[in-house]
Amino acid sequence: MTDRLYFDWNATAPLREEARKVVLRALEATGNASSVHTEGRAARRLIEEARAQVAALVGANAKNVTFTSGATEANMLALHPFRGSDAPHDRLFVSAIEHPSVLCGGRFPADAVEQLPVTREGAVDLHALRSAIARAAKPLVSVMLANNETGVIQPIVEIAEIVHAANGLLHVDAVQGPGRTGCDIELLDADLMTISSHKLGGPQGAGALIRRGDLQLEPLIKGGGQERGLRGGTENVAAIAGFGAAAVASVKQANVEHMAKLRDALEAGLKAAMPRPVIFGEGAARLPNTTAFAVPGMKAETAIIGFDLNGIAVSSGAACSSGKVQASHVLAAMGVEPSLARGAVRVSLGWSSTMSDVERFLGTWNILAASLIKERRGIAA
Ligand code: PMP
Repeated sequence: MTDRLYFDWNATAPLREEARKVVLRALEATGNASSVHTEGRAARRLIEEARAQVAALVGANAKNVTFTSGATEANMLALHPFRGSDAPHDRLFVSAIEHPSVLCGGRFPADAVEQLPVTREGAVDLHALRSAIARAAKPLVSVMLANNETGVIQPIVEIAEIVHAANGLLHVDAVQGPGRTGCDIELLDADLMTISSHKLGGPQGAGALIRRGDLQLEPLIKGGGQERGLRGGTENVAAIAGFGAAAVASVKQANVEHMAKLRDALEAGLKAAMPRPVIFGEGAARLPNTTAFAVPGMKAETAIIGFDLNGIAVSSGAACSSGKVQASHVLAAMGVEPSLARGAVRVSLGWSSTMSDVERFLGTWNILAASLIKERRGIAA
């Protein structure tokens, strides 16, 4: 069997060696972090160490980090009407390109949620944001740091300025940020931030919601008072400890310039191939590891299966939940023709990707693209 080539890092990143070691050690230990005996205190220490490590990754105070089962839960924990000292933040504004866990409006009633449009390049339209939130007394706004399908980085600092001038709060889903672009909560001026362990090389099943000030969160899961009363349930100690170790490693070994070089080579190769693909969000600021492209007439499933048969894992640009390729709400929001969007392929690289991986990918693409041309000629004949 040929070696597999993994180019789907935005879906999940491989487990970092540093995280694997910590997870295995934590799994060997017995102890509930709420117990007062020695074993319990050892489990508590692992969690608190990870809390400090995750806080350091985003420049936050450790006491403001709440561990959850992942980013989906962290988003649900964040998005509810915050009770302020006077009126609550009772209207939610989310960009049209958010992950479904934000797009669904969290714990807001459906009629209190509004979607914000994006430009053709896939960045939030700041004029539309300004005029939409002007209609709310205390808006809560949720915009992602970078889009998981296109890699387009959102203008968070500008958005924060607009939101704060309107007496609002800003939540940032920064899941695709660590190790790829800056995600310091102070520099971004966000009030709340979500991150996920498995996107930065930690195990699946852990995430965090990080607050900047002392916002009063309403727990989503009530129970035994864990996580300072904000998230009931015995903590997933091994996953949390691995998350912390991966957070440290992702700062030490980000390889941002290396990834950008590979991504540029990959896009240059794609553009030299026939038929020439459309690269989504090409003119926008993007993550250094992500390329989403399509060629008219090629279905995403055909390309993904073609790559997979050649040992290469890529994904559809469309949201691929429960294994089914659906139309991408992200590309639709960018005004991409549905027939073109149906062919979107997403390639996402990581810190250990190499130039020979890119060459192998391009070699396979050239074969797939050539068969597309033959098919078209066959249809035309
Ligand atoms: N937000 C974004 C931007 C994501 O890419 C994902 C994962 N695809 C999530 C949230 C959900 O993360 P988790 O798998 O940790 O629930």
